[in-house]
Amino acid sequence: MPTPRTKAKPQPKRAPARRKTATPFRLTYANLSAALTEPTLLAKFDRALAHVRAQIGEHARTYPMFIGGEERTASAQFAKTSPINTELVLGYFQKGSAEDARAAIAAAKSAFESWSRTPWKRRVALMRKVAKIINRRLFELAAWVSLEVGKSRAEALGDVKETADLIDYYCNQMEANDGFVRPLEPEGGIAVCRSVLKPYGVWAVVSPFNFPMALTGGPASAALIAGNTVVIKPASDTPMTGWLLTECMREAGLPPGVFNYVTGSGSTVGEELVNNPDVAGMTFTGSVDVGFSLVRRFSQNTPRPLIAEMGGKNAVIVSAKADLKKAAEGIVRAAFGLSGQKCSATSRVYVQRAVKDALLALLKQKTEALVVGDPTQRGVFTGPVCNRGGYETFQRAVEEARRAGGTFITGGNVITDGEFAKGFFCQLTIVDGLPLDHPLFYEELFVPFLLIGTVDTLEEALAEANKVKYGLTAGFFSKDRKEIQYFLDHIQAGTVYVNRERGATTGAWPGNQSFGGWKASGNTGRGAGGPYYLQQYLREQSQTIFP
Ligand code: NAD
Repeated sequence: MPTPRTKAKPQPKRAPARRKTATPFRLTYANLSAALTEPTLLAKFDRALAHVRAQIGEHARTYPMFIGGEERTASAQFAKTSPINTELVLGYFQKGSAEDARAAIAAAKSAFESWSRTPWKRRVALMRKVAKIINRRLFELAAWVSLEVGKSRAEALGDVKETADLIDYYCNQMEANDGFVRPLEPEGGIAVCRSVLKPYGVWAVVSPFNFPMALTGGPASAALIAGNTVVIKPASDTPMTGWLLTECMREAGLPPGVFNYVTGSGSTVGEELVNNPDVAGMTFTGSVDVGFSLVRRFSQNTPRPLIAEMGGKNAVIVSAKADLKKAAEGIVRAAFGLSGQKCSATSRVYVQRAVKDALLALLKQKTEALVVGDPTQRGVFTGPVCNRGGYETFQRAVEEARRAGGTFITGGNVITDGEFAKGFFCQLTIVDGLPLDHPLFYEELFVPFLLIGTVDTLEEALAEANKVKYGLTAGFFSKDRKEIQYFLDHIQAGTVYVNRERGATTGAWPGNQSFGGWKASGNTGRGAGGPYYLQQYLREQSQTIFP
């Protein structure tokens, strides 16, 4: 099957870059196709993958936790296998206990005094070093992420590169705000009055499997730059990426206890992080069920900040006045990139009746041109879903759609021929014809499964888009300016895109888009990679000093 291509577009002229970046290209989720076709990138990835495979070799290594500047093992370990081939063990990781989590919290607590008093410029310098190390190891880290999550080359590169860019972005924010010390009006004309933002203490970062580098490294770096000390707990599906991030932090020379890495389950390590009173704040990214439970419980005994970024059921609306080719390209990329496992993935399309058949024909043609396969390989658009849970959810959704009389425009099966039987591969699936109130229109599935709904008016489309409990991302396609404004005025979502062929609802990048959700998708109303994010890791102290 052909590799999907997109035509290069003339770029608007830009001011010359002020500083050279560590990598010779600026990869973002918006230009992923370059990474699928550019020969230098392909060769670099090939070399990195061979290096990583050689490291795994016949016998995978056992990896420790990292607590208080030292490696620590637990009494039991677990094997992490690849979703591409579940016979491939990538490594053995520690089944951390509540006691291990307590040790990490204690280490972070004792490092806080000194780290929080370290001049912020020094903290920024150290974190910029972390970003540099990540950039230097970009291809190697991406090869690991590809094997661990089942991400395509481009998606894996994007996850790692975004992490470095998030760190740099938060460093820039700290600098632009001069460490968040601001003079206020002198009381009585004589007192020194100022506002100082200060860190909270120990900050826990609990992250999901789908962006294991960016959604661990991003919040952790914001917390660290702000002067908090950090305990990370990656998802059980992605301990390796957590370890690699830990290696980068170690190499940069963060003092012992400032950054700690604990592995283990949500119910043991995660619960200890939630319940331990020495944790001053937390960033949780994951499902709405876990997130809501944490929102309810985290401040039970004392008020503490919790940044909870949760799921989505993201809609795209296609107007009768849309450029349908653009719309179809944007939808297919956003629905099926990373096999539908982005919190921002398009999972519902509401199209106006007049253009529905034309749009469906384009969606079918574009989807069937995408290559599903071993995502570490050249030319593969997307790989398996990351775990058995996702694989089963996909099969359940297909079954439910069949039972409800849905029409399968494409897909509808798992892929089990040959080597595919060893992994969690699913066909990219589009279903039309379900009633708009069918439960599948409401539930986040997190698999490559796209529903089409037909509407008559834009008002109806907006009502459908807004009816779910989530409000993360949304997309709109129309050439009509009044319609665009109507969409922007009425859509209930934190991150919205209009006419975005590069990804109708996906592909936010630090500095270009703040990324966050409304309603059940997020509890802060402040987006990651945006101008109001870093401040959440700081609390204000107003200081008044009379002579
Ligand atoms: P998940 O909720 O199953 O797990 C997320 C993390 O929480 C994991 O590290 C897990 O071990 C931990 N955890 C589980 N139970 C816990 C408990 N009781 N206490 C503390 N920690 C606990 O989510 P997932 O399957 O890894 O990730 C997919 C979900 O994440 C989807 O819903 C997706 O939409 C969401 N997500 C949201 C964003 C966003 O920015 N809004 C980004 C990526 C993913």
